[in-house]
Amino acid sequence: MRKYAPSIALFAVFEAVAIALWLAKDNLFYLLNFTYIGASVALGVGLFIQGNKNARRVTQLLVGLYMLVYLGLICNENMQIEGFWYYLFTGVFEAATIHYAVAKIFGPLLFGRGWCGYACWTAMVLDFLPYKVPRQPRKKIGWIRYLTFAASLVFVAGLFLAHVGNIERIMFWAFVFGNVAYYAVGIAMAFAFKDNRAFCKYVCPVTVFLKPMSYFSLLRITCDHDKCIQCGKCRRVCPMGVDMLDDSRKRENGTECILCQACVRSCPKKAL
Ligand code: SF4
Ligand code: SF4
Ligand code: SF4
Repeated sequence: MRKYAPSIALFAVFEAVAIALWLAKDNLFYLLNFTYIGASVALGVGLFIQGNKNARRVTQLLVGLYMLVYLGLICNENMQIEGFWYYLFTGVFEAATIHYAVAKIFGPLLFGRGWCGYACWTAMVLDFLPYKVPRQPRKKIGWIRYLTFAASLVFVAGLFLAHVGNIERIMFWAFVFGNVAYYAVGIAMAFAFKDNRAFCKYVCPVTVFLKPMSYFSLLRITCDHDKCIQCGKCRRVCPMGVDMLDDSRKRENGTECILCQACVRSCPKKAL
């Protein structure tokens, strides 16, 4: 049972958030929502501990589909960055703001870009594509993320400044079309750059939050240099181009690690 301690600890963290929000907001939804997400994450970690190769994908599908289909399409919650701005402007600390605070702004201080590896519904689809490891050198076009970030903010601010009516309905359709656009651009970029995660590296506006916060992440991949034989297998399987052999926070692409564990699984010496 001891080997499942990380799985149980993660579930406990989510459950603490679930109970705190349930009591603070007097809303059972938060208890059920974070319990479900915590159970999905704990299941994935438990499967990983058992050596199951699909562990991460199981969590990714359980959480990603729940957020996209149930919260987004059925409950009409815009869980994309536009939804975050929308709730922020209305001054309501509800679904999208809480989601961003937990998964994308403060959570990364603890679990880095775990969201990107285990929960994001955009990457859930992109990870099915054939280029799991980039086949081309990284491009210097990461500045695009700041444009998409600004565009999302300007779009929602514009709706408020123009006093557009029925913004809630507009936000629902923004969620639908926004996701269609993300998938279309993400899939096109994956094939163009021969890299499933090209969208994550260059375009995704959420990384404007994720990258600086995950720099300080408590949970990170480090290398036991006494065990490492410098075979380089780990670096060859990393989808994000992280130099996981360098333990410093300033390592190459350090804020890109999605904790997918591909490097850990590939290491013949269990040095990571
Ligand atoms: S970078 Fe953006 S699209 Fe990629 S996994 Fe993270 S949140 Fe999702
Ligand atoms: S392969 Fe390792 S370093 Fe690269 S993203 Fe996955 S966990 Fe992070
Ligand atoms: S795969 Fe393991 S042994 Fe090989 S370089 Fe990476 S950490 Fe070192």
